[in-house]
Amino acid sequence: MSTGVPARLLLASNNGGKLQEFAAMLAPLGCAVVPQGTLQIPEADEPFDTFLENALAKARHASALAGLPALADDSGLCVDALAGAPGVHSARYAGEPKSDTRNNMALMHALRDADDRTAHFVCTLVLVMHPEDPDPLVAQGRWSGQIATAPAGDGGFGYDPLFFLPSLACTAAELGAERKNRLSHRAQALRQLVEALQARHAAPLP
Ligand code: IMP
Repeated sequence: MSTGVPARLLLASNNGGKLQEFAAMLAPLGCAVVPQGTLQIPEADEPFDTFLENALAKARHASALAGLPALADDSGLCVDALAGAPGVHSARYAGEPKSDTRNNMALMHALRDADDRTAHFVCTLVLVMHPEDPDPLVAQGRWSGQIATAPAGDGGFGYDPLFFLPSLACTAAELGAERKNRLSHRAQALRQLVEALQARHAAPLP
């Protein structure tokens, strides 16, 4: 019986770490992941105000150019005291050229007088079977924490050194890759996507 899971799908990203994570989770479903760079597909613009709209635009763009089902993600950090900023602007919060160090300094500065330091990472994944797919599969992971007053740890990337997890008493940069990859917003979204794919294509009840 066909599971309906695509045998090949295009990943609308050239990030090697993401490719490995996605490939490992999708391989057991019989689905191979092709990075968009191998087909010379240029990155899409991300002009929208929400992770969902950006991920959908990236997935449609990649699917149209590749002629394959396409999976795209968009992620970032949302800080409550900053009305959700840096949000979709997380990568370039401190301007060009993009720099994790300057982004973290800008964030510490923006929160210098804040009592409320709650924040969450978001990862939105969108899978389209074709560019005009009217029913994309959407999964969203959320990882809650607090913005620390000083960076700690040298693992991970981006805002990890400032992202403090009260229940674990450490920052995401102190977690180690294996633990982070089980807990993170990206891991949560990917698990949801795999479950949704399986559910969508499960055999109907007798
Ligand atoms: P992208 O969607 O993976 O390109 O992520 C956009 C930006 O969000 C990154 O450049 C980081 O600044 C931030 N970000 C997303 N995920 C993480 C994470 O797991 N740790 C730290 N920062 C992240």
